[in-house]
Parts: sequence; structure tokens; C-alpha cells
Amino acid sequence: MSQKKGISALGFLILIILAAATGYFGYRTLNSPTFETNKPIISMPLERYWNTHHPFDVNLSDDTGLKEVVAYLSNGKERVKIADLTFKKPPKSYTLKIKYPKIGFATNSDQLQLTVVARDISKWHFFKGNNAVKKMRLRVDNQKPDLFSLITSYGITRGGSALAIFKATDQNLKELYVETNFGKRFEPTPFYKEGYYIVLLAWPIDQKRFSAKVVAVDETGNRTKARLSLFLKSRSYRTSYLQAKDCFINGKIADLAEDEPEKTKDLSPVEKLKFINETYRIQNDALIKKVTSRVDHNRVDAFPIRPFYPLKNGKVVASFGDHRYYWYQNKENVISESYHLGIDLASVRQDNIYSSNPGITVFANYNGIYGNNIIIYHGLGLYTVYGHCSTLLKKRGDLVKAGEVIAKTGATGLALGDHLHFSTMVHGIFVRPAEWMDSKWIQANITDVIENAKKLIDK
Ligand SMILES: [Zn+2]
Repeated sequence: MSQKKGISALGFLILIILAAATGYFGYRTLNSPTFETNKPIISMPLERYWNTHHPFDVNLSDDTGLKEVVAYLSNGKERVKIADLTFKKPPKSYTLKIKYPKIGFATNSDQLQLTVVARDISKWHFFKGNNAVKKMRLRVDNQKPDLFSLITSYGITRGGSALAIFKATDQNLKELYVETNFGKRFEPTPFYKEGYYIVLLAWPIDQKRFSAKVVAVDETGNRTKARLSLFLKSRSYRTSYLQAKDCFINGKIADLAEDEPEKTKDLSPVEKLKFINETYRIQNDALIKKVTSRVDHNRVDAFPIRPFYPLKNGKVVASFGDHRYYWYQNKENVISESYHLGIDLASVRQDNIYSSNPGITVFANYNGIYGNNIIIYHGLGLYTVYGHCSTLLKKRGDLVKAGEVIAKTGATGLALGDHLHFSTMVHGIFVRPAEWMDSKWIQANITDVIENAKKLIDK
């Protein structure tokens, strides 16, 4: 009895030892890299566009090491193996190049499926390792976008505007814009019929050269460029030297400096003039550029713009592009400079300011050197800006009819006497108002170009 009991006690002890050993080794096994259970990671989206002439990369990784990688391409009917790799030195990451098979594969299908299978070096799953499979739909697009410049204004003047109409077609068009030598991208607007686009262009006054190309990019990344050939007319602008009188510095300048008390409190009167005429001007111009950069993307059939005459009997007292130097006490002592990016019109005090074209009010507020400032959008990225007003009669969002009074002239902001500062903007760029105030220029460069384009399209 006692003998039997002794045996079973020993058997029990052996069992415990065995169980502990199994547990220990089992635990070791599960937590050892040799038996890990993490699948390899295949980094690819569910879908992408593909120009089959350009291979692309798929990144693979595994925490212990990759053993095998296989990839297939299928067009629904046939399936070809495009990669079959076994690694002698298992890498933790690998970049698989996906190339279109040169032979043995129908080339005319526009949808393919890529399957990537990766296995790691783990001994899990009876030494087979952990298996990962991922599939991706490939939309084949080997066709570059088609671009064709239909018509443009004859030329463009430095500081001025122009118009271009072109055709852009692609099955999967993604981006369309006009690229320039000065970094600005102009956004076109759909025009008249499917595939046609219209765009206003501007040659900024501070750029010596102008060149523009239409760029079309499709979903695959296929890219086409077409040059817009415009006759370039350079133009020189006036330089003038103005005396900065003490009454100006201690009057208008000191008043405007109050707008920015923190930045101007330690400045001398002359430094304040430089601050207002340069730093503050840049800030006020930046606001105008921001407000006038938006272009709408609804299709347009016409752009019946008429010349702008904001004041009934306005006399031009300063022109666009004047390079103004301010001197203090003697002519050699130039203390500040700036470009005048609009024209000044003067008539009687608090005269009516008219919008000659319909539009929508996009800004009606105080804006530093421009004082009470109203900005109207007329379509195609064309905006008009009215500064130094005494009263604004429209608020942001208000529609404006052609010939409507939108504000009254005044001397708010950096203005010495009652006058209107009138600026025209194309896609956020200050352009010569003289062109948009000239019926012959508008007809030759805008309206006729549009009419001729329609005739070419309908032909
Ligand atoms: Zn002005």
C-alpha cells in the first residue's frame, strides 16, 4: 500500500516536471523569433493608375525576415508570374519592382490585378512560415493628355493682361494649369464645350520676362505641356521723386502708424514712413492678393466685360507702375520707395464710384494704406479694387449690377486729398487698369478672341 502510494507520488512529480518543461519550452517557442506569428507587411493601396511603361515599387517588410516573395499580374483571362524570389539572406525589408511583362500577356486590357504573396522565415505553421497576400487593382493609362492651344490674345504687355483658350483631353485628367517662368500657376475655367478651357493671364510688372505653358497631368502621372505663344511687349514705367514733408510724416504717416502701435512705437517719424510705405503696404497688398486669387470653375460661355469708368468725370492724377522714391530734407536723402499698383482718379469730394461691370463684393473693409477698401469679382479671375473711400455702400457677399454705385470717394488710408485709387487684379496679380478701361483693348484682346474661339470650336 505504502509502496503503491510512493510510486504514484513519483509519477505525479514526473508529470509536474514534464508539464513545467512543456510549458517553458512552449512559451520559449511561441516567443522566439523562430516561431513568431506576425505576417509580413505588403505596403500597397487597393487601387492605382498605371502607365505600364513605368515600373513602380511595392515595399515589403517583416519583423524577422522575408523568405519568399511571389507576384502575379492578371488581366481577368490570363495570369502571369512577374516575380518569384527566394532569399538566401532573409532581409527585413525589400522593394519589389513591378514591371509589365514583355511577353506572353495581352496588352489591350485597361484593368489588371496585381497579387503579391510574401512569406517569412518563421517556423510557424509547421515550418512553412507566415503568409501574407495582398491584391491591388491597376487602372492602365498609357495615354498622355492631349493639349492644343486654340487661340490667344495677340500679345501681352509687361504689367498687362491677356487671354488664352485651349483644348485639353484625357480619360483621367487630374491637373490642368498654366505654368509660368515666374512661378505663378494660373487656373483655367471650363469654356463653352467639353474639353475647352479659358484663362486670363497676367505679366507681373516686377518680372522682366514672361513665358507660359499649359500643363496637363492625368491620374497616372502622364504629363503634356503646350507653350502659349504671345507677342511680348516690354514697357517701361515712370520713376518719380517725391518730397516727404514734415506735415505728411507727422500727419497721415503718424496716423497710420497708430494701426500697428506695437511695431511702430519705437520708430522715429522717418522710420515710420518707411514702415508704412513698405512693410505695411506689403501686408495690405498681401490681403488684396489673397482675396483676388480665387478663380471659379463653373463653365463659362462668354465674358462680356465692358470698360471700367469708376468715376464719371475722373481725372487721372497718378498712373499704374510709377516707381516712387520719397526724399526727406534734401533730394539725396531717399528714405523709402514703392510701386504704385493702380491709377489715381480725382473728381469732386465724395463722388460716386461706379462698378461698370456686374460682380460680387468679395471685400468691403478697412485695409491700411488703402483705407476703406471695396473689391468686386467679375469672373475668370478678374477683380477690381477701390481704395481711399469715404463710404462703402456694399458689404461682403453683395451682388453688384453694372453701373451701380458701390462707394464714395474719400481720403482714408495713405491719401493726401480726396481721390479714388483703382486697381485691377488678374488671379491675384496687379495689372494695368488702362487696358481694362480701354474698349478697343478689351475688344481686340478679350471679346474678339472669345468670339473667334467659338467659331473655331463650332466649325
Ligand atoms: Zn493710388
